[in-house]
Amino acid sequence: MVSVIRRWIVDQLMFGEFASYRDVCRKSVWVALKVSLVAYGLNLCAHFLLHGFDLLPYGLGSALIIATVLTPPITFVVSVAAYIAVGFAIHDLGVSRAEFEKLSRTDMLSGLANRRAFLEQFDRCDRDKAMLVIDLDRFKSVNDTYGHMTGDEVIVKVAQMLAKVFSERCLCARIGGEEFAVFCWDMPLAEFAALGEVARLRIAGMRIEAGEGGFSVTVSGGLARALPEEQFGEVFSRADKALYAAKSGGRNRIVLCHETSDDCDSRTEVGRKVA
Ligand code: GH3
Ligand code: MG
Ligand code: MG
Repeated sequence: MVSVIRRWIVDQLMFGEFASYRDVCRKSVWVALKVSLVAYGLNLCAHFLLHGFDLLPYGLGSALIIATVLTPPITFVVSVAAYIAVGFAIHDLGVSRAEFEKLSRTDMLSGLANRRAFLEQFDRCDRDKAMLVIDLDRFKSVNDTYGHMTGDEVIVKVAQMLAKVFSERCLCARIGGEEFAVFCWDMPLAEFAALGEVARLRIAGMRIEAGEGGFSVTVSGGLARALPEEQFGEVFSRADKALYAAKSGGRNRIVLCHETSDDCDSRTEVGRKVA
C-alpha cells in the first residue's frame, strides 16, 4: 500500500506535469479532487469506527453531515494551494536546470554548440559520419589590424554561415578560439565535401565592414570520415592532420584525410578531387 502511494506521488511529480504554470494549475485541481475523495473516505471510515466503539461524542448522522460539508472543500482548497506552491517551485527548478544545461552546451560568442556538446553528440551518434575541422586563416592579423571586437564579429559571421550551409543532418560547433567543427551523419562523403566547399567559398565571399572598405577572410578545413566504433579523438586527429595539410598547402582550401592518416596532404584537396 505504501509503495503504491509512493509510486502515485512520484507519478504526480514527474517533470512532464510541471512543464508550465498552466499545467501545474490544471493538474492541481485533478490531484486535489483525488486527495479530497481519499480524505473524505478516511473521514467517513473514522466516524464509523468511532461510532462502532461507541466513542463518537455526537450522533453519527450529524457527524456524517459535518464530514461531508467540511472535509471535501477544505481538503480541496488546501491540496490545490499546496500542489500549486510545490508545482511552481518544481517548474522553476526544471526551467533553470534546462537553461543551465543549454548554457553549458552552447558557445556564448557564436551561439553554436561548444566543444563539450560536440564531442558528446559525436560519440553518441552511431550512424555513418564524418568530421570537418575548420580554422580561420591568418586570424591573428585580423585582430592585430582591426581589433579584437572585429575579430569576434568575424567569428560570429563565420559561425552563422556554417550553421546556414550545414543545416540538416549536421552539427556545427565552435571548438576553440577561431576553430570550428562540423559533423554530418548519413550523408555521402562527396556531399559533405561539396557542402564544405560551399561554406568555404561563401565565407571567402563575405564582406566584413571595418576600416576603409572592409575586408574578407578565408578558412581552411580538414575532412575525415569516421570508421565504425571510432571516437571523437581518433577522427579529430585525422581531420586535424588534413587541416594542417590545408594550411601548409596554401590555406583557403579543404583537404580530405583518408582512413590511413599518412594519406592526407594537399593533393587530396576537396575542391579538386571530391566535389
Ligand atoms: P593560421 O592561418 O595558421 O591559422 O593563422 P592564425 O593567425 O589564424 O593562427 P594563430 O593560432 O596564430 O592565431 C589564432 C588567433 O585567434 C590568435 C587569437 O588572438 C585569435 N583568437 C582566438 N580566440 C579568439 C576570440 O574569441 N576572439 C578573437 N577576436 N580572436 C580570437
Ligand atoms: Mg587560424
Ligand atoms: Mg587555430
